[in-house]
Amino acid sequence: MKVLVAVKRVVDYNVKVRVKADNSGVDLANVKMSMNPFCEIAVEEAVRLKEKGVASEIVVVSIGPTAAQEQLRTALALGADRAILVESSEELNSLAVAKLLKAVVDKEQPQLVILGKQAIDSDNNQTGQMLAALSGYAQGTFASKVEVAGDKVNVTREIDGGLQTVALNLPAIVTTDLRLNEPRYASLPNIMKAKKKPLETVTPDALGVSTASTVKTLKVEAPAARSAGVKVKSVAELVEKLKNEAKVI
Ligand code: AMP
Repeated sequence: MKVLVAVKRVVDYNVKVRVKADNSGVDLANVKMSMNPFCEIAVEEAVRLKEKGVASEIVVVSIGPTAAQEQLRTALALGADRAILVESSEELNSLAVAKLLKAVVDKEQPQLVILGKQAIDSDNNQTGQMLAALSGYAQGTFASKVEVAGDKVNVTREIDGGLQTVALNLPAIVTTDLRLNEPRYASLPNIMKAKKKPLETVTPDALGVSTASTVKTLKVEAPAARSAGVKVKSVAELVEKLKNEAKVI
């Protein structure tokens, strides 16, 4: 079974992001970039499926600038077999990304597509769902457990009230939640080997996809700074403040 994993290059989760002076977006100059953490979980799940003998080939795909090759090489070092970079320096919205992924799905015909539940830069949480709608594949989002059984995949989903298990016919789309697995680190020998694994670069034009945006970012602002808190001396004082100052009880 072929598994396709979508990985996004994002600002590293340890970086404290700054908004550009003209409020047009987040300042990416000299900022550490990494693989989106939910995509790391997606790669790990695919590698575990390969180790179990369920997956035969893992293809990783990223849509982004030339530098996104770094994240694809990381995925190759973690165990993916080959990589595809859909090269674009534009800022693409989720629908454009989903259309490009659909073109890759049409070409590669994977049985399972694994994406992160959300990218930590834009927090959109919609690419997997859009890809499912465009491709007509079944979807199991927010997965905390994935079990392939014959021509089905059982996905345990994290939902507000607890856990829900759905059985999807393959081919299917799964998006990963935090508890699905704990990703491994790439070993030095595997990082060296990854340099020799195939990495193909294509353009949106070659895939026949228009990436014209239907959404325009008007303004990006940092959240308002929080004012300092106060220490109360007693529970009675706390209750008094909650009642009369905050007026929440
Ligand atoms: P989002 O809907 O933007 O929050 O992203 C959810 C997931 O979609 C990510 O974790 C990735 O698996 C995938 N994805 C989003 N943008 C890209 C991209 N530019 N390249 C590859 N995968 C992406």
